[in-house]
Amino acid sequence: MNAALSATPRRDDVPLKMVAANCCLCEQDDSTIIGTGEDFEYRTSADQFTVMQCRACGLVYLNPRPTLEELARIYPSSYHAFAFSETEFGFVFQVRRRLEARRLLRWCAGLPASARIIDIGCGDGFHLEILKDFGSKTWQLEGVDADERAVTMARRKGLTIHHGLLEHLSLPQETYDLAITLQTIEHLASPPQLLANVRKLLRPGGRLVIVTDNTDSLDFRLFKKRHWGGYHFPRHWNLFNPPTLHKLAEKTGFEVEKLTTQVSPVNWTYSVRNALADRNAPSWFVELFSLKSSLALGAFTIFDTLHNLAGRGALLNAVLKRPSSESL
Ligand SMILES: [Zn+2]
Repeated sequence: MNAALSATPRRDDVPLKMVAANCCLCEQDDSTIIGTGEDFEYRTSADQFTVMQCRACGLVYLNPRPTLEELARIYPSSYHAFAFSETEFGFVFQVRRRLEARRLLRWCAGLPASARIIDIGCGDGFHLEILKDFGSKTWQLEGVDADERAVTMARRKGLTIHHGLLEHLSLPQETYDLAITLQTIEHLASPPQLLANVRKLLRPGGRLVIVTDNTDSLDFRLFKKRHWGGYHFPRHWNLFNPPTLHKLAEKTGFEVEKLTTQVSPVNWTYSVRNALADRNAPSWFVELFSLKSSLALGAFTIFDTLHNLAGRGALLNAVLKRPSSESL
């Protein structure tokens, strides 16, 4: 596809069906509007979306948000989590694979040979395949994803994938040593419900690693009124910062073992891209800011590394632990 075409996808003008939301941590809606925007990336509808921030805890959330029956529409087949392949992304794919391998293996340090590891929201199995290639051959690796296309792609890689939402699957309780949920909780209506379910799967002392967009970042502050890439309109429903992530852990019975930030150029790249596209910048210029542009990704990686050193990287990285001395 040429660049001009991919920058201006066809807009579907039927409004999305929406539902009102509460703060999932405080279970009430006492909030202020902090931003509005559109589906800048995929143009799956012409709707304007509103972002609220809870006055009590600071959680950032989309309100109203699309109903669950709209998921197939707001995650089109061109959605990047389903299409991140070596043939499409070449050099960026290889760099990302190496970086992710180092990170993943760090989270796996100290796991027994018989460890059971589950990736919740595993998409096309990108991270599981890295663990399969670079990790211990004795680990038992499993994934969960609700999207049929993603599950098909992951299974084609020879991975064990459970298809469906975690709350509908009857996975064995207290058997997993490590659960990872990477850039997944922000897509969910109720992250607390997911964590409560993950907690039941983990052995006492088992760990849950969460990676999610950070609203305590410079990119958020600069772009939050409209163009912030982390909004990913209308696909990100709950967005956290260190205090709200602590609150999420506390609410669901996890101990916070570690809470840091990690570098990502993606939100910076999309924030600039959205701002340009919204101002009708020429499509060749907009295309300089994409996940296929090693120039933008490289430059913003360096930039975000500086913020990360100050503890304000673009992504939050939490290692939570199910307390060892507790039953369900
Ligand atoms: Zn709240």
